[in-house]
Amino acid sequence: MTAHRVVVRPWLRVLGSLVVKDWLAITIGSRIYAWRPLTGVELEHELQHVRQWARHGWAFPLVYLADSWSARRKGKRWYHDNRFEQEAREVASRRTHTT
Ligand SMILES: [Zn+2]
Repeated sequence: MTAHRVVVRPWLRVLGSLVVKDWLAITIGSRIYAWRPLTGVELEHELQHVRQWARHGWAFPLVYLADSWSARRKGKRWYHDNRFEQEAREVASRRTHTT
């Protein structure tokens, strides 16, 4: 299991929605911030972001944003078509456990 810590704070929901509508969680380093407890699949998704942070270090936000930027330039969606999000979705969908 990837070393991580989940921090659940309901008030984060309002704060985060100012930036991304319908958001659920954000991973910073090995910490996962969410406004409600995550299901198994949702946790797996965020754990992949923990691994991405470990792989790229503090350059991760930059490479993430660069990938979103290049997706946008190709006329794709900055979030959905970001390769780090695609990878996290793939990993999460491979895990079968729920809640
Ligand atoms: Zn994600």
